Amino acid sequence: MKAEQALEKLTNIPPNHLNIMGYIHRSEVNGPGRRAVVWLQGCLRECPSCFNPASWSFEENQILSVDELVKWVLHEPENEGITFSGGEPFWQATALAKVARQLKAHGLNVMSFSGFTLEELQKESAPTNSQALLDQLDILIDGPYVDSLAIHEPTSPVSSRNQRVYVFNPALADRITWASDQIEVHVFKDGSRLVTGYRSHQSE
Ligand code: SF4
Repeated sequence: MKAEQALEKLTNIPPNHLNIMGYIHRSEVNGPGRRAVVWLQGCLRECPSCFNPASWSFEENQILSVDELVKWVLHEPENEGITFSGGEPFWQATALAKVARQLKAHGLNVMSFSGFTLEELQKESAPTNSQALLDQLDILIDGPYVDSLAIHEPTSPVSSRNQRVYVFNPALADRITWASDQIEVHVFKDGSRLVTGYRSHQSE
């Protein structure tokens, strides 16, 4: 599917809603502590050896509202935050910024992966409202997965050497220690499976 056609699909998502690939209530391998993870549907990069190619399509998969996602996350009081993964979270930055704002008001922290670099996200050509989402983030892990730069170390918080960890919230500076040497297997409602955590590289 051409990029224009793919991105046109984004306009079919109702306001204040998200098109997600999957959601898990708790994970300990996708950021500091115990946290919810949502995988956004849609990515244009097609990185070789992508861990999660089922997330590339921009076709409608599971549509849920900002309020519904916030409610799901808050239903797990032991969670300290949420991680946005994908797919490419920033294609849905407008709604995700709203999710982040609401969860931060409840004291949770917010982390996101992105196939874009931080510099790309700060340009005018970035997906709509990227800066609004950046403004809400406590941690950003940026850059696409590059197979030739893969890091085969279970203690690394990134999958390939080009990726960078930005800790925007100093309170989390010493929390880049999640159990990346563990693997979690998640089964979504449609029966599809997603393995997340350290293998040869992380899913984004
Ligand atoms: S590795 Fe990440 S950025 Fe690359 S295609 Fe997969 S989801 Fe997209």
